[in-house]
Amino acid sequence: MLSFTEENYIKAIYKLSEDGDGAVTTNAIAEVMQTKAASVSDMLRRLNEKEIINYVKYRGVTLTNSGQKTALQLVRKHRLWEVFLVDKLKFNWDEVHEVAEELEHITSDLLIRRLDEFLGYPKYDPHGDPIPTEDGFMAVKQQVLLSELAPGESGLVMGVKDSQPLFLQYLDKVGIYLGAKLKVTDKMEYDNSLEISIDHKKQLSVSAEVSKNIFVSR
Ligand SMILES: [Zn+2]
Repeated sequence: MLSFTEENYIKAIYKLSEDGDGAVTTNAIAEVMQTKAASVSDMLRRLNEKEIINYVKYRGVTLTNSGQKTALQLVRKHRLWEVFLVDKLKFNWDEVHEVAEELEHITSDLLIRRLDEFLGYPKYDPHGDPIPTEDGFMAVKQQVLLSELAPGESGLVMGVKDSQPLFLQYLDKVGIYLGAKLKVTDKMEYDNSLEISIDHKKQLSVSAEVSKNIFVSR
């Protein structure tokens, strides 16, 4: 059995190792967990004893196979709960992350299997992120950032890099949603902002920052 805190560390290490390459440093974990490096070291020692991580002094940590499995199951539960909240309980996509952070710690495998079945085995969460299967398989999407498209190119919105409520609310406001067709009609050299069209209709100007947080199909 793992505590909530241990599970949150495992998720943090998983995310950091996905974003970077290889070993994750104590400082990076401390920053994500908003705690002191000393507390992180204590936790890492514990996770090392439980064979969740490989702990290499002065270099950082990597997840063991069992740690990787645990992380993927947490991600699976988190994303399935997000689908449930949006599809069945009518939450908006900017309201579900925090609730799912709590629900993901429920350990019943049967509950999750039934939830998956009840939802019709969804492949993606409401933010477009793939949901790992029960045996830890996760689809890899063919996607690029909107900022990487050249004028004239288009793609369907596949997901968001930033799933903070404020960003999702911004997307709601301007009418960008998962599956929308975005076409870059012009790019401003000055600040890298983009002129885009949504579904061949609405014209919109988006900042470079916004374009770096939307994934589109390739
Ligand atoms: Zn989430």
